Amino acid sequence: MFDNDRVTDLRPRLPSPLQEVADDRFARHGVRLLLKRDDLIHPELIGNKWRKLSPNLERAAGRTLLTFGGAYSNHLRATAAAGRLLGLPTVGVVRGDELAGRPLNPSLARCAADGMRLHFTDRATYRRKAEPDTLATVLRTAGAEDAYVVPEGGSNTLAVRGCRALGEELRGRADVVVLACGTGGTLAGLAAGLAPEQRAVGIPVLKGGFLGEEIQALQQQAFGARRGAWRLDDRFHFGGYARVPAELDSFAADFERRHGIPVERLYVAKSLYALVALVEEGAFPRGTRLAAVVTGAPFPA
Ligand SMILES: *Cc1c(COP(=O)(O)O)cnc(C)c1O
Repeated sequence: MFDNDRVTDLRPRLPSPLQEVADDRFARHGVRLLLKRDDLIHPELIGNKWRKLSPNLERAAGRTLLTFGGAYSNHLRATAAAGRLLGLPTVGVVRGDELAGRPLNPSLARCAADGMRLHFTDRATYRRKAEPDTLATVLRTAGAEDAYVVPEGGSNTLAVRGCRALGEELRGRADVVVLACGTGGTLAGLAAGLAPEQRAVGIPVLKGGFLGEEIQALQQQAFGARRGAWRLDDRFHFGGYARVPAELDSFAADFERRHGIPVERLYVAKSLYALVALVEEGAFPRGTRLAAVVTGAPFPA
């Protein structure tokens, strides 16, 4: 085993494995289920977080990295881990100043242990963080005016282009690709990397909003136009971000038992639930190869 092998760099396992699994809920409808194991790309920069961050780490070229997230953000943890592995200073701007001075939750404690400096900000400021004046104030109060700034969720142009490889790895290997969406940056890139006959279906984990328009804007910035055949299915957010009702939790636990893979609850579980529901609705013709992207892993593992 590798117990004593400290992970000292960001070397990824790419392409990530594509595993076919036997599941009677799919077989019954004559369709196949493949799991795209992006959760195995890197032990700490898991899944799409590696694909989105690595081009930004290169661009940052040693500068302090500053980014944004909520109290349980996978993106903040990945950024903090990258900082530790590369010896880069990191600053995490955390939504909610009421969290300051309280014991850190396990996710933020991990960020701090990885050397991330946490800067708590009130929700009104956090909401306006993309506005130049607000951002300038945040950078100044965080003492990080020269930092390389990565947006919340990590979805900037470099990140979207980085996710194109995910689509390219799936060329010729699946007909429809399903994945969970937060900011939609991963879907924006993935769809651009697919072959013309392939389709992508995104499952938003947040309620309502303008995700379709945002993904289109991300593609416009990254590629100059809308790219690839993609759509969103908005029915599977289960009440909104971080909502995990008992029905979803038991679905995920059952999936773990059937297939022996850990199912992250906030994103991955919703996308797998959606895929099973779509198959049961008869959304795919017999013979369809369905790839579900396992975009992350549970924390703590
Ligand atoms: C961050 C994350 C996502 C969302 O990716 P976006 O590019 O923001 O849509 C999906 N799944 C997991 C497990 C994540 O951690």
